[in-house]
Amino acid sequence: MKLTANAHTHTTWCDGKNTAEEMVQAAIAAGFDCIGFSGHSYTAFDESYAMSLAATELYRKELLKLRQKYKEQIYVSIGLEWDWYSDQIPREAYDYVIGSVHYIYSDRTGKYYTIDYTPEEFSDCLTEAFDGDFFAMAKAYYTSVADMATQRKPDIIGHLDLLRKLNADNRFFDETEEAYLTLAKKAAKVCIENGCIIEINTGGMYKGYRDTPYPAMQLLRYIAQENGKIAIHSDAHDTKGIDFYFPEALQMAKDAGFREVWQLTKQGMQPFSLDEEK
Ligand SMILES: [Zn+2]
Ligand SMILES: [Zn+2]
Repeated sequence: MKLTANAHTHTTWCDGKNTAEEMVQAAIAAGFDCIGFSGHSYTAFDESYAMSLAATELYRKELLKLRQKYKEQIYVSIGLEWDWYSDQIPREAYDYVIGSVHYIYSDRTGKYYTIDYTPEEFSDCLTEAFDGDFFAMAKAYYTSVADMATQRKPDIIGHLDLLRKLNADNRFFDETEEAYLTLAKKAAKVCIENGCIIEINTGGMYKGYRDTPYPAMQLLRYIAQENGKIAIHSDAHDTKGIDFYFPEALQMAKDAGFREVWQLTKQGMQPFSLDEEK
């Protein structure tokens, strides 16, 4: 099987490096029949990477135009990467949404800490908001992931264990520790129970942060065991990353025990069997 879609992509409307049209052309060149855009939803407290409200409207308009322009070659689907700390959105304006947690908010300091930006900010969060107790920090993160699933029921949960991004060589915590994995599995279970598709996300690898995708293999096996739904996305921020590590991620899905993989289509997310491949 060859994957023919990517539902997690960014453009110059948010923090991507290429225009939407360049991304569409890259998707066609990669042999896709569907490309989904998931621009970052507006977050009032941090405008550094997300779309402004005005840009969000223009983003939708441009994608509708591109859908029409390229309709003979590919289907352009309009999604949104909806951050947990963004306000409510008009769901009907989007074909699908990816629910993602990029921040931990601390009542104590009144600050939003980005967990996937710099090790310094990650470290500040750990010391200022959690007195260095990583387990408490992980609990806050995975509670938000679970709340995202129950309260918003996004079609897809983005980079389930994004907390790993800056943790190469177990710099901040031991990823194999049972107490940590139990928190991650509990959140995964809530996502599954709420019908959310969990993505294998190769974006952190593409940017050189980690040498395996999200979620970690142990977590992926657990999701397969619990009959969770999986999709494969590259969280592409440029044209070169459009199908990054897709064949390998597909093999990982099979190795973890999945029988099907979900892909974005004109009709929304659909399952594709992995069984005919021996
Ligand atoms: Zn994200
Ligand atoms: Zn993203």
